[in-house]
Amino acid sequence: MLAFDVGGTDMKAGLFDADGHLIEVLRAPTPLADEDTGERVVAETARLAQELGRRHPHVQPTAAGLLVPGNVDDDAGIGVFAENLGWHDFPFRERAESALGLPVGFGHDVRGAGEAEHRLGAARGFDDVMVVTIGTGIAAAVFIDGRPYAGKGLAGEIGHDRVAEGPACACGGRGCLEAVASAAAIARRYTARSGNPVSGARDVLDRLHAGDCNAAATWDGALDALALGFSHSVALLAPDAIVIGGGLSEAGEELLQPLRERLDGILTFHRRPQLIKASIGANAGLYGAALAARDALAPIAFSTTKEGAAWL
Ligand SMILES: [Zn+2]
Repeated sequence: MLAFDVGGTDMKAGLFDADGHLIEVLRAPTPLADEDTGERVVAETARLAQELGRRHPHVQPTAAGLLVPGNVDDDAGIGVFAENLGWHDFPFRERAESALGLPVGFGHDVRGAGEAEHRLGAARGFDDVMVVTIGTGIAAAVFIDGRPYAGKGLAGEIGHDRVAEGPACACGGRGCLEAVASAAAIARRYTARSGNPVSGARDVLDRLHAGDCNAAATWDGALDALALGFSHSVALLAPDAIVIGGGLSEAGEELLQPLRERLDGILTFHRRPQLIKASIGANAGLYGAALAARDALAPIAFSTTKEGAAWL
């Protein structure tokens, strides 16, 4: 299988063998926004496929999977809109099938990564579960009764759940969860508060450990916002678990334990979901794309693999 995970700044291409093992990952910058971004992304997938083919001539892919961000119509195979990447109603599946000469499974990046965690990773075995990615933004893949719920491509946008009076969000709203608590927002808000530039949320945590009260206040605000946002989802869906992936999840229990406590402090009679770190990690999107590729060949409705990473 060939797997492609297109992000806001770079795209990854992975080659999987017939047993579902990831052989190699190549990266390339995502082509910058203009009216041809969709075509250029597809051309880049073909170039990366050729390079993987040259490097591993003994592996013959039979299908490909492609995940992209933004508002995505998985069923129609269309990238409806991506704020930072510039495409509108671009027929990714059709164009990628033609460029790669393979059947292509297509879908949304966060839902695809969630699918990988649900079938192969930390969300496995939970019928009602959310897989939340906290990175540059925040979004969730939602599973109800063991099945993904996409809401025609718009479900799971918990990053734009209003949890505070401010700050302004890129979506046009105010006080959105991702404007307060995404990894990018934590770095941005720390810098705004302290005047000290940092390279990311990891830096803010390091400063917190060194006794920086601006870092502590920024981190505290992010935890409060996440707990409040999660409480809204818990009231609506009563999930058994919330699995947390994306860059911020690398903080592990330093993130999860205070989140459990704060969520517990907000909830009353509600079911307490388990809060669990995602287990597939940074390549969850590639595994999700590989699963989409497998489904493009032989659709198997929402099967959950029992034996871990070997999924064929
Ligand atoms: Zn927003």
